[in-house]
Amino acid sequence: ITSGNRALEQLSGYTVNELIGEFFIDFVETKDKEEAKECLAQALNGELRDYRLNFLDKSGTLMGCLVKLTPIILDGRQTGIFVGVKDMRELDKLASKYIDSEEKFRIIAENVQDVIILLNDKQEYLYVSPSGKEIFEYDQQIGEKHPFLNIHPGDVVLLEDRFQQAIKDKKSYKVELKAMHVNKGWIWTELNGTPVFDDNGKFKYMLLIARDISLQKENVDQLEYYAYHDSLTGLPNRRFFTNRLQEILEQEEKTGEGFAVILIDIDDFKQINDNFGHETGDDVIQEFGSRLREVLDSKDFVARLGGDEFIALIANIHEEGQILEKVENIQQAIQASWSIDDYALNISASIGIAFSSLSGSTATSVFKEADKAMYNAKNSGKNLVRFNRPN
Ligand code: GH3
Ligand code: MG
Repeated sequence: ITSGNRALEQLSGYTVNELIGEFFIDFVETKDKEEAKECLAQALNGELRDYRLNFLDKSGTLMGCLVKLTPIILDGRQTGIFVGVKDMRELDKLASKYIDSEEKFRIIAENVQDVIILLNDKQEYLYVSPSGKEIFEYDQQIGEKHPFLNIHPGDVVLLEDRFQQAIKDKKSYKVELKAMHVNKGWIWTELNGTPVFDDNGKFKYMLLIARDISLQKENVDQLEYYAYHDSLTGLPNRRFFTNRLQEILEQEEKTGEGFAVILIDIDDFKQINDNFGHETGDDVIQEFGSRLREVLDSKDFVARLGGDEFIALIANIHEEGQILEKVENIQQAIQASWSIDDYALNISASIGIAFSSLSGSTATSVFKEADKAMYNAKNSGKNLVRFNRPN
């Protein structure tokens, strides 16, 4: 577990900090552990599905939950799984009360967060659960006349295709699409369709379960954002920078255009933490990041590598003079007076510059050259600029 939200704390009784670093599987009830492992393996295979699993909360209480696993894919690689957990205890209690009764369907349909829709073979509405009004502001009256009325026009053909195919194959299907909400606009929706047949194999109706997945999509987007950005300064992080560097190295091979990397490390930053506290240190890092961002061009790529270390990637370098001017501007921005949390601070930084060469530089070698130059500046007394030209 690497992160969690407030709802997770409420559900589990643990704080997010207590959960970070723990294994998801350890919170699953013993008899469900094997199944949970399988679910994780399937999710890592890119399969999006819902599972029923029992968890134990902090007090040891058993919680029947609906679990949704979404793989997080970064740079084409699985880097984690986004887990959505829904407490099903109330609903289970209701369902068990009405088991084997007509009521069961009605109670479930009226209480789930999902919209349950029944369509006949002409795709006319037989039933839309009350949640349809709540979640999609779906007006059943209009819906009866125009099937798929609130579906994004770009999704309708696919939807009709899948509808017919499911009847032919007698198989369920799932699509993600956008549905219109009168006030909220387009809502990302997951639609599960199951064709239902009578005893003679004749198609009776299509059971559709529609779910608002916009929050889940947002979460995935947000996780992706944090995977590539530094949360303190909002600047791109090392991963993002390395990707960009690799891109530009490939580009350089084709176009022969040079680039330079400027590595900047604040001098004696530990003393700022020690003398003024870690929070003031954080504020200095933030201000440092925004000064760098401001003084460089919008097409220069600025990132925080970590700690008090920043880096800028300057493309299309034809002569050293271009870089010298940028570095001068950076130095001026650092030399300008610093007033952070009412403290007047003296800030300086050591700067190392690496120029690209066309003889097979790699991201690693570029980092190394810039690092060497920067340490050279540190060792020569700090508050200095040093260059390194590979080959
Ligand atoms: P040097 O001049 O050689 O660079 O010395 P320095 O004191 O700046 O030390 P160095 O760059 O090696 O280490 C930076 C320190 O910054 C290490 C750590 O204590 C501190 N640090 C790292 N990340 C953060 C952060 O996010 N916030 C704060 N406030 N301090 C951080
Ligand atoms: Mg430093």
